[in-house]
Amino acid sequence: MDPGHRISFRARSAVEVIDDGYKWRKYGKKSVKDSPNPRNYYRCSTEGCMVKKRVQRDCEDPSYVITTYDGVHNHLRPGVHLLPPP
Ligand SMILES: [Zn+2]
Repeated sequence: MDPGHRISFRARSAVEVIDDGYKWRKYGKKSVKDSPNPRNYYRCSTEGCMVKKRVQRDCEDPSYVITTYDGVHNHLRPGVHLLPPP
């Protein structure tokens, strides 16, 4: 696992938090200079996982949301199982 791993993408979305299959807990919010939209901070809600993401509306085109992930999950997506239940 590379703790410095960072991915950022921009997507057209009506909702701020794009459903990426993981569960997130909001832990912070920061107003952004020159932008009416605050930046929201989330962390993975799985215990022991250090992945964080921040979400912000594009100030040039608010129909787009910019999501930046920091880190790599050390687990599968919730609800995804490699083996069928016994
Ligand atoms: Zn995680």
